[in-house]
Amino acid sequence: MKALVAVKRVVDANVKVRVKPDHSGVDLTNVKMSINPFCEIAVEEAVRLKEKGTVSEIVVVSIGPKEAQEQIRSAMALGADRGILVETATDEIGALEVAKILKGIVEQEQPEIILLGKQAIDDDSNQVGQMLGALLGAGQGTFASEVKVEGGKVQVTREIDGGLQTVELSLPAIITTDLRLNEPRYAALPNIMKARKKPLETKSPADYGVTAASKLKTVKVESPAERQAGVQVKSVDELVNKLKNEAKVI
Ligand code: AMP
Repeated sequence: MKALVAVKRVVDANVKVRVKPDHSGVDLTNVKMSINPFCEIAVEEAVRLKEKGTVSEIVVVSIGPKEAQEQIRSAMALGADRGILVETATDEIGALEVAKILKGIVEQEQPEIILLGKQAIDDDSNQVGQMLGALLGAGQGTFASEVKVEGGKVQVTREIDGGLQTVELSLPAIITTDLRLNEPRYAALPNIMKARKKPLETKSPADYGVTAASKLKTVKVESPAERQAGVQVKSVDELVNKLKNEAKVI
């Protein structure tokens, strides 16, 4: 069984992002970039399925600038077998275009399991997995906290508001990963070295009949409002008074 994992290059989760002075986006100059954390969970899940013998090959794909090769190599160091970079001129590519490119790759590669993160932490859009499911007419198990592949089906336990829901999908199936699905491993140095020799193909959006121009335009990006300093109160009465008359929350 083949697994395809989509990984996005994003600003590292530990970096405090700076908005560009003209508010056109986030300043990426000299900023550490990494695999989107939810995509790393998707890679880890594919590797675990391979270790169990369920999956025989893991193909990792990223759509983005040339530098996204680094994230593909990182995924290979974690255990993916080969990579596809769909090179675009900019980082700004819309969710629908990404989903259409992924559809083209799925049609070529014919994976049974398609793993994505539930969302990319740069724009928190949470759309690509669902769009890909719709474009392919495939079942989707989103926000997965457990994945079991058995007898040509996959059972996905999903984190929903009221608790956990388990759905059964026929293959090929789309799975988007939530935080509690697994804890990704660290890449060992020998595996980082081995990853350099694994095959990595470069394609263009046009190879999948897609023009990478997004239908969305970012109008303005702003930093969150500064948090105001807190105050210390001397008594419960004073606290209740402030909550009632100043914050007006009770
Ligand atoms: P989003 O819908 O943009 O929040 O992203 C959800 C998931 O779709 C990510 O965690 C990735 O698995 C996949 N994805 C989004 N954008 C890309 C991209 N440019 N390249 C590869 N995968 C992507």
